[in-house]
Amino acid sequence: MKILVLNSGSSSIKFQIFDMQKIVSICQGVIEQIGESRGHIKFVYGKEKEITKKSVIKDHSVGIELLEELLIDNKVLKSFDELRAVGHRVVHGGEYFSKPTLINDEVIKKIEKVSPLAPLHNPVNLIGIKAISKVNPSLIQVAVFDTAFHQTIPNYAYEYALPYEYYTQNGVRRYGFHGTSHHFVAKEAAKFLQKDIDKCNLITLHLGNGASVAAIKNGKSIDTSMGLTPLEGLVMGTRCGDIDPAIIFYLARNLNLDIKELDNILNKKSGLKGICGTNDMREVEQRAKSGDKRAKLAQEIFCYRIKKYIGAYSVIIGKVDALVFTGGIAEHSSIIREKICSDLYDTLGIKLNKEANLRHDRLISSNTSKIKLLVIPTNEELEIAKQTYKIVLSLPNRV
Ligand code: AMP
Repeated sequence: MKILVLNSGSSSIKFQIFDMQKIVSICQGVIEQIGESRGHIKFVYGKEKEITKKSVIKDHSVGIELLEELLIDNKVLKSFDELRAVGHRVVHGGEYFSKPTLINDEVIKKIEKVSPLAPLHNPVNLIGIKAISKVNPSLIQVAVFDTAFHQTIPNYAYEYALPYEYYTQNGVRRYGFHGTSHHFVAKEAAKFLQKDIDKCNLITLHLGNGASVAAIKNGKSIDTSMGLTPLEGLVMGTRCGDIDPAIIFYLARNLNLDIKELDNILNKKSGLKGICGTNDMREVEQRAKSGDKRAKLAQEIFCYRIKKYIGAYSVIIGKVDALVFTGGIAEHSSIIREKICSDLYDTLGIKLNKEANLRHDRLISSNTSKIKLLVIPTNEELEIAKQTYKIVLSLPNRV
């Protein structure tokens, strides 16, 4: 059984096809520059065979049609009918969705209803869903929400101390994001620890260009650092994370900045980029090594914020089994992992095995560490495929 996973953006669609019998990816690529004067589709399949096709791609449906043609021409698929289902990454499920969901008209309406909470993402995720319906209306489609895993967070952790009606009437609360990734690595960690996920207490750190941390108790998310939007929490590539909200009023009043400009500053010009001029952690590391003080400070601020969350989440979880590192930065940067774990032995019993850390082993804690330290590469697409497969198997009259 083959499953197509789509992650639709405003001018691009990332895709991957999985063979669910073997649980392997058989093809992955991207359709880019949709709606622009020149677009292209790129994918790899088989033993590193690579296909690139340049073409004007008027809209997402045209992109999907072109993809179908290319997959058939290159014998990746005999036809789209060979696909059993399509799993879509949908960023925001609001309070409607706490698990992956079979898409129908009612589900589409609900995704539209919560779109004001993710105006840059949900509408384009819906375009991807509608493009598939247009090209192949009989395909089963499943929505897998970034917010769903965090729907177990209790109200004292998800409500903000604002007038209550903003929650009840406008949906202002903590939702959390990166849920598919936190869930995936939590399950992988449970396997590694040889424990039932329902008995696992974990702190999962997803550190990429976007970054978030989740507190997972007995396999369920009980708190996370991102909030109503992905702006809250950790220092990120270009996002500021936690700040005093009064900074916004101060900047607006004193620099005459409007909401749009402030939104752009906090989301696109802050974080690592704001501190030292680049959001690429590899460059930050290079520059820090060669003595650049701002780059060094960017690393310090990044890791210090993470340490504060580890401390806070250790307290609310109680006994933590493992701290899990995932995402581009946490999977690849031994320096960042070392900085995060430094000086945490006396308080939390965290002790890094420096050699294992340099080798990027899966287990990087020393034998004396009271909390296991794990590096687990995330795979959100595979998780979406697995969740979609689970729904397909639960449907009556499956072929
Ligand atoms: P992601 O959003 O998960 O793709 O992660 C992107 C981030 O990972 C960027 O800040 C990259 O600079 C960072 N990254 C990727 N590879 C490395 C590496 N080898 N060392 C440090 N940071 C890395």
